[in-house]
Amino acid sequence: MGNAIKNLWASLQIFFSNFNARYGRVFNWVLIVLVAGILLYLFVRSALAGRRGRKSLSPLRTRTADRAVTEHAAETLAAALRCPTITGREEEMLAVGRVLRENYPRAARALDWATLPGGSILLRWQGDDPSQKPVLFCAHLDVVPGGEGWTVCEPFDGVRQDGRIYGRGATDCKGVIIAQMEAIEGLLEQGFRPKRDIYFAYGCDEETGGEVGARAIASRMEQMGLNFDLVMDEGGFIRETALSHGGSYTAAYIGMGEKRRCEYRLTATCPGGHSSQPGKKTVLVVLSEAICRIDAAQPRHRMIPIVRRHLEAAMSTYPYHKRMVAANSLLLKLIGGRVFRDDPYVSALIRSTVVPTRVDGGFTADHVLPSTATALLNARLLPGDKPETVLDELRSLLADLPVQVELVTEGEESFITSEDQPMYGQLCRVLEELYPRLQLVPTLVTGAEDARHYSNLSDCILRFSPLTLGPRGGGSDHGGNEFLSEQSLGLAAEFYQAFFKKL
Ligand SMILES: [Zn+2]
Repeated sequence: MGNAIKNLWASLQIFFSNFNARYGRVFNWVLIVLVAGILLYLFVRSALAGRRGRKSLSPLRTRTADRAVTEHAAETLAAALRCPTITGREEEMLAVGRVLRENYPRAARALDWATLPGGSILLRWQGDDPSQKPVLFCAHLDVVPGGEGWTVCEPFDGVRQDGRIYGRGATDCKGVIIAQMEAIEGLLEQGFRPKRDIYFAYGCDEETGGEVGARAIASRMEQMGLNFDLVMDEGGFIRETALSHGGSYTAAYIGMGEKRRCEYRLTATCPGGHSSQPGKKTVLVVLSEAICRIDAAQPRHRMIPIVRRHLEAAMSTYPYHKRMVAANSLLLKLIGGRVFRDDPYVSALIRSTVVPTRVDGGFTADHVLPSTATALLNARLLPGDKPETVLDELRSLLADLPVQVELVTEGEESFITSEDQPMYGQLCRVLEELYPRLQLVPTLVTGAEDARHYSNLSDCILRFSPLTLGPRGGGSDHGGNEFLSEQSLGLAAEFYQAFFKKL
């Protein structure tokens, strides 16, 4: 390190003495002052930016949820988790419906309750003022299969242990449904009636695209001529994150839009034959080369306004060098992609991504060269990037290889909800009242949620659940030991109560 600094200093001295000899002393000093000024400006900007949001506190530290509500919600969630509602199992969806009706009898009587094909549930809580536009809360009943990595219990045991509820679907997304139902039941008990109609749509197949559930519900609503002041679905959470430079940071991430999901298929073809006499090119090698090229040539990073807002609001979570880049748009534009490469979350926010998720090729016989092999690429495009443009880029990248590229599925593009929408303001106010020192971060969601099916029905789609996730709150992202802390569940129920009252 000492040597490197000495070398740098020596190079600078040579540079400036050459510069001095060529352009004169005054110009040399002007250059030095200019460079020093720019560096000082960058340092000051990043230092000031880092001060923002530093005091953001976790709801789990600042509030304790009502004990009776939390107890009832935790028991009901555990019961709902015992129904293995893997997408497609209608019987299990119906069983969750029964758990809800049994545990929330007031809601079962007071709300219009419809069970739809596939087991989806649609609820309408009638408001007093028909002149006001309704609002819609979405969630889903289905879950991904149990998978591996479960050490506390089996995926569908629904176990309460050490203040946590374990089971597949605890955070994604039955915890949200239970928190909403708990809030409705509590408000009904208090004699509350909403001002406007509040709908709840719990889909049966979000994990596989939402065609049977959310899409069918949305088209039914479109036929009914419904239009909502707010559609709120899962997406962002209140998240406690351990920071690489020490400590932890909590913020509410509110999804204002989502990346567009597309799939491409690569099909490589080469002559097959016996593996003892391979030709010049064999199909699996060709396919591998195509995949490696695509991986090396990822779409360039690009800053869109909503992601800039995210970076500004979450500035204090970054170590100094990243903060310096995030706080200065020129640096961000020039080197942002490289600087945030080791951060998968931010990296996915500043560029479209294309990644292989499945390969298929070869026979059961070990000595036979296949003649075709395919790979599926899953792409998540930033708003503004077109699936056809990515297709053209992939084709030109692989033009010299015997590989065909097709666009197989093309998701809809989501719009970015404006921060000027009154319901966004309302959501922020409720969060600020409940958790005064919590940082709010408007953001782009990288996953595809049911909400996109409702995009014709509202100008204000927010992707946010008030669950506090993280090491103490819950989570697992489809992995083992999915859990939700009972505190997090109880606080989410209180959030919905406060929010429903404001609608
Ligand atoms: Zn989900």
